[in-house]
Amino acid sequence: MMKAVVVNAPMDYGLKEVEKPQCPKAGLVIRVHACGLCGSDLRTLRNGHRNVTLPWIIGHEVSGRVCEVGPEYEGEYCEGDMLAVAPLVYCGKCEFCQRQHYELCENYRELAQAWPGGFAEYMALPAEALRLGTICLSPDGLDPAVAAIAEPISSCINAQEKGQVSKSDTVVVLGTGPIGCIHIALAKAKGVKCVIGADVNEDRLAFARLFEADHVVNTSEVNIVEEVRRLTDGKGAEVIITANPIPETQVQAVEMAKKGGRVLLFGGLPKEQSKPGIDTNIIHYNALQIIGTTTMAPRHHRRALELLAEGKLDGEKLVSHRFELSQFEKGVELAFAGKVLKAVFLA
Ligand SMILES: [Zn+2]
Ligand SMILES: [Zn+2]
Repeated sequence: MMKAVVVNAPMDYGLKEVEKPQCPKAGLVIRVHACGLCGSDLRTLRNGHRNVTLPWIIGHEVSGRVCEVGPEYEGEYCEGDMLAVAPLVYCGKCEFCQRQHYELCENYRELAQAWPGGFAEYMALPAEALRLGTICLSPDGLDPAVAAIAEPISSCINAQEKGQVSKSDTVVVLGTGPIGCIHIALAKAKGVKCVIGADVNEDRLAFARLFEADHVVNTSEVNIVEEVRRLTDGKGAEVIITANPIPETQVQAVEMAKKGGRVLLFGGLPKEQSKPGIDTNIIHYNALQIIGTTTMAPRHHRRALELLAEGKLDGEKLVSHRFELSQFEKGVELAFAGKVLKAVFLA
């Protein structure tokens, strides 16, 4: 038996004794060390999830040590290896996978959805995930709590790569929750000219300051479009990243872009609000690039772990709260209240 957080129904979850996972014939079992709490976990706890059949064990930002090896496992990992586990599992067969555009896989599945997740003492890693997924050896000496959160960082790396963020750019990050702060940290690590963080919430703006955004703007007090123009000699910013679910943000992003600028739509919008009324003439006449971006490919996960191990990204700063798995409810409550940048649970 093992301890795991079981989600029974929306807003009904808790620590339970459950059956320890069996080792998949060609897979592995890890003894989970850490599992990060993601915004999407909070949504699943609140509303359930279309790909999750309750009751279920969620948690998809995981690190842990291999403790069991299936008899038919053919991969490179051995008992005792510390692995960083991100949840994506690609099909390897669709046209996008064939071209290594794994993040667009037509049949991708996720750990913690199609297989049980990591808010538990043990987690099984199926052969598919080990073969065509986002599971890496955690670099030597990297804190397991930090290795676990390589997953959200990976998606941000993919986005900034697509947006060709470079040293001469001013980068505006709209929304400074965990994802926004990762974007700020990545842009700073790249050495861009200037990073502007904007949010309506003072707690989240404090996070942006912690990650050393050059300017922090409270958008409930200041018109962000005018402020960005003021800070850029009237020209606007080269790169704008939307990292919140607010439609108006996408409208503003286009309005604050420099001619030829790139707008990265990182945060999705609620389904019924996804036509925000962008002035497309601005896109046309200012030759803007609007770039949609989602998830990541395996190489982004490897890159995230490298950046963390090299200290170019301060993972310890990102992990603002650590809890024992038995304190799951307490951690989730704090996260729902918006007091947490990134909570990690140690099993
Ligand atoms: Zn996540
Ligand atoms: Zn595919």
